Amino acid sequence: MIPAATREETTSARCAPEQRGPEQGDTETGVRYVRYRRGEVGESRRSIHVAMCMPDGLLASACGQTFQPGRMEDTTRGMPCLTCVHRLASAERTRASTRLVDEHGEHGLPR
Ligand SMILES: [Zn+2]
Repeated sequence: MIPAATREETTSARCAPEQRGPEQGDTETGVRYVRYRRGEVGESRRSIHVAMCMPDGLLASACGQTFQPGRMEDTTRGMPCLTCVHRLASAERTRASTRLVDEHGEHGLPR
């Protein structure tokens, strides 16, 4: 039995949710923040992954795992998956570096 407060915080995670809110990630990109529902795995494995819906209906995370949507819940409240965080930070660094070169040239000088 899940307490009412918990049910309101975490909506059911389908691969393509019809309703979205601040807990469900970015509607533009389809990025979702998901973790296993309580009871699916041990508490130590319930970190929050950054995932996207794949054509086969599964959720694929930045850290390289795939999840059944029915076993997952959307939430941003909890411990993030550190591998997901590192991968996304690395991707952002690459994008920022490319942007700086585009704007300022290879040696940081204005074009
Ligand atoms: Zn992850």
